[in-house]
Amino acid sequence: MSELIRSRRDVLKIGAAAAGAVLLQGVPGMAEPTAAKKQVVVVWSEGTAPKKVYPKDINGAIAEGLAPLEGWEVVAASLSQPEQGLPDDLLNRADVLIWWGHQRHGQVKDALVEKIVKRVKEGGMGFISLHSSHFAKPNKKLLGTACSWRNYPSDITETKVIVKDSSHPIAQGLSDFTIANSERYVDPYAVPPPKALVFEGISKLTNGTNDKSQFGFTWEVGKGKMFYFQGGHETNPIFFDANVRKMMLNAVRWAAPEKK
Ligand code: ZN
Repeated sequence: MSELIRSRRDVLKIGAAAAGAVLLQGVPGMAEPTAAKKQVVVVWSEGTAPKKVYPKDINGAIAEGLAPLEGWEVVAASLSQPEQGLPDDLLNRADVLIWWGHQRHGQVKDALVEKIVKRVKEGGMGFISLHSSHFAKPNKKLLGTACSWRNYPSDITETKVIVKDSSHPIAQGLSDFTIANSERYVDPYAVPPPKALVFEGISKLTNGTNDKSQFGFTWEVGKGKMFYFQGGHETNPIFFDANVRKMMLNAVRWAAPEKK
């Protein structure tokens, strides 16, 4: 009898050990308990860039440049997708949203803009706004001003981007660099005082003179960080440029909320 009980106990012990082994192995498809949750950056564009310059639109080129981010999921989203590329489940887990728009600002739904603003102000999502996105609805709503430049001449070929604040994380590893540019924006930019002016631009005009303007700014809006970069007209392939890609990597890491 006692022999039998002992062996039953042994069976139970073996059973418990086997169950433990199953638990330790985890369930297929579930994340390893020790693996850190990935941060998420969404790169959004409206799909109007010329295919010969940006075969996968601007979001595709920027997303490709963000591939070196370790521990990040990079998502390309566009206006033509369901829910304008930003369904709630994606927006709610995004740590940083990058925005490039130009001709289709008016098509972006106000309800989506409200959700983006809330994610930045209350959720701490970073927002990076590029070139003609100065007039994008979320950019204007976040900054609360007209966000207009004085003028938008097309009298240039290139701009030298000057690192004004070399201590800023967005400028890390960068020194002054030149980008193709066929559309300059002229100061002043109707925005609140920035937290930092990271870059200035010296544009080489076709008449042989130069024009200096503010080129890269940051703000804090509620719990979120914002960065705006003036370059990036759709016929200038700057989002394939190594310096711009380095800047975008820096900007994403900087704009992300602190890890909890
Ligand atoms: Zn432009």
